[in-house]
Amino acid sequence: MARKWMVPVLLLVLVGIGAFLAMDRAAFRSRLGSTAAQRREPVPPAPATPDAPRHYPQGRRPLAIADHRYPASFFPNTELIGPAEMRLTALGTGMASAAPAQKSAGWMLELGNGDIFLFDVGTGSQQNLVALRPDWSKLDKVFVSHLHIDHVGDLDALLLEGWLAGRYTPLHVYGPTGETPELGTKAFAQNLRAAYAWDIQSRAGRLPEAGGRLIAHAADFRTTQVVYEKSGVKITQFPQIHVLAGAVGFRLDWNELSFVFGGASIPSRWFLEQARGADIAIHECFDTPERLAERTGASVREAVEEMLDAHTPPAGFGKLMAAVRPRLAVAYHAALGPEEMRRQVEAIRESYDGPLTLAEDLTVWNVSADHIEVRRAVVDTLPLPAGTTRGYAEAARAERQALSEALRRGAWEGYAPPALPQD
Ligand SMILES: [Zn+2]
Ligand SMILES: [Zn+2]
Repeated sequence: MARKWMVPVLLLVLVGIGAFLAMDRAAFRSRLGSTAAQRREPVPPAPATPDAPRHYPQGRRPLAIADHRYPASFFPNTELIGPAEMRLTALGTGMASAAPAQKSAGWMLELGNGDIFLFDVGTGSQQNLVALRPDWSKLDKVFVSHLHIDHVGDLDALLLEGWLAGRYTPLHVYGPTGETPELGTKAFAQNLRAAYAWDIQSRAGRLPEAGGRLIAHAADFRTTQVVYEKSGVKITQFPQIHVLAGAVGFRLDWNELSFVFGGASIPSRWFLEQARGADIAIHECFDTPERLAERTGASVREAVEEMLDAHTPPAGFGKLMAAVRPRLAVAYHAALGPEEMRRQVEAIRESYDGPLTLAEDLTVWNVSADHIEVRRAVVDTLPLPAGTTRGYAEAARAERQALSEALRRGAWEGYAPPALPQD
């Protein structure tokens, strides 16, 4: 009789002793009650500096990455950029007629010193920027390679939506002059802003006045010259060869790292000079002429003509990068699909065997002196606003525009708007 109840009790005692022995000392202490060192400290509130976003999401406090141990995917606003690192994000890698999964050309380059630079703002690229939920107060500089819509089609969105989203200083656009003044970046910027007169006027008094300004800096498309130099960052504009006079590329130097963006062009000696040995070199890599003809219904002859003065086929990209020998070559500017990617890689590899990325939208590169990490960003397709800063809230506003009395009298008396709260 006694044996019947003793067996389970004995088993329980043995299991208890086993569990006690298996527990390490720290775990045992934490069972008894955690010490101060083990207790999880509450996360302090974000500092109230002028640039701190006012609505920083809880649980998205960016962390430093140690020893290149990056998460497999990049989740926006979860990682600090290392002080000696640059992070490049593809906002758009396609051509005109942006597709849902491939917007027109756009790139964001973030530096470890806190600077952010945009290169090209093709149609749709702003959607990916919105999805990344950046600090919009810092997105005030864009460098445009030429004035084709697939490279500048979202400049209006960057100007006006960027202003709504949090920029409270003017937007600066850097780009080439044209053969005549009306073909240059200045005229483009002035005319674009003039076209949005109603939009800009409607926001007077509501948004910070300075955020609605667009300042264009045009540099001679024929020459290689430094167009930006500030806080240890130097950006050089160089000529490129693409359809019409007035296409350029850019090279950025910072902290002994170099980034080169070729815009759109056939292979040029200027790109070769600027990109040789660069840490990261982006150049267009168009469809093969045969594929272009298949896709568009053009003849192969017409497709080949595109490669004479406008675009670089994959074989040309391979040849160019074999001479450039960057730490990493980045190809973009073809309508991607599994078949296109296979043909591109085959043609590139005929002459270039170095490190290569065929860029897709939201590819992310972390570049430091001893490491390059290539990943994809994971974003929300219905993102909440990124939040504005204290600087945005406090920036000067103009006189608010009053609605005319004639229009007010047209309001339907059957509806009462929400009452203003009493404070
Ligand atoms: Zn173009
Ligand atoms: Zn293009």
